[in-house]
Amino acid sequence: MEDKPEKPEKPEKPEKRTKVCEHCGKVFTPNANNQKFCKESCKSAKYRIENKEKIAKRVKKYREANKEKIAAQKKRYYQDNKNKFAERTKKYREKKKAK
Ligand SMILES: [Zn+2]
Repeated sequence: MEDKPEKPEKPEKPEKRTKVCEHCGKVFTPNANNQKFCKESCKSAKYRIENKEKIAKRVKKYREANKEKIAAQKKRYYQDNKNKFAERTKKYREKKKAK
């Protein structure tokens, strides 16, 4: 039988502790001790802000690697929504004229 290592005593009680979301500043009760954000969308929003350049680089790389694929997708999307685009452009122009 091995001796069990002594458990370090925690001065803090794991009571309901609230935290302030690092993104939106909302007070919330974390489910996990290391939870820093009130919800997933705040986590990803913060991540996006902090890793803007990293993400931009990755997107750029992806676009360069998949240029033709993306162009084909765009083309297809445009053709599928031609009427919608035309309608939108028309509305936009009318709006501009009215000003
Ligand atoms: Zn939040």
